[in-house]
Amino acid sequence: MKTRFNGPFVVPVRDIVRHPGEMREYQITVPLAERWGEGIVTFDAGTEVDLDVRLESVHEGILVSGTADAEYSGVCGRCLTEIVRPVEVEFQELFAYPGEEETDFEVQDNHVDLEILVREAAVMALPFQPVCQPDCLGLDPVTGERLTESAGVEADAPIDPRWSALQQITDQGSTADRRAPENTEES
Ligand SMILES: [Zn+2]
Repeated sequence: MKTRFNGPFVVPVRDIVRHPGEMREYQITVPLAERWGEGIVTFDAGTEVDLDVRLESVHEGILVSGTADAEYSGVCGRCLTEIVRPVEVEFQELFAYPGEEETDFEVQDNHVDLEILVREAAVMALPFQPVCQPDCLGLDPVTGERLTESAGVEADAPIDPRWSALQQITDQGSTADRRAPENTEES
């Protein structure tokens, strides 16, 4: 491709401009020069955005559609655990040929710049209330520890009353023998 890319999200359209019906597809990976997003999860600078882009020449301009895959990172909104999640977003926009009407998206000098289009779609996909897992219980208001972890650990089961009677009998035997039946059952 002879066309020079003038920016990370700039895609050449020289060979399909004014040729309605022509179509090109590109796979592009763009590392972000700056952070995208403002919330507690964002796309950090350096995050790689994988783009699958389809460019279709139509009478009015170039119809751009595709998907962007990237990982956002930040913290769980409930327990503050660090999280990294993949997300895929779709985008579509008509980049019009320069004309009478000013538009946000225009074909410029035989290329289209997808940055604003992809950025808006990606930032919109960021969750407002990210969680490390759907049933995250958050932090214990007293201890400040994660409730999710402590809830997963079962307390030692009380000795079955039926074993208690046996235990009294085996108390006459060695200490090691006493816990044998319980261990066998649980392992
Ligand atoms: Zn959490």
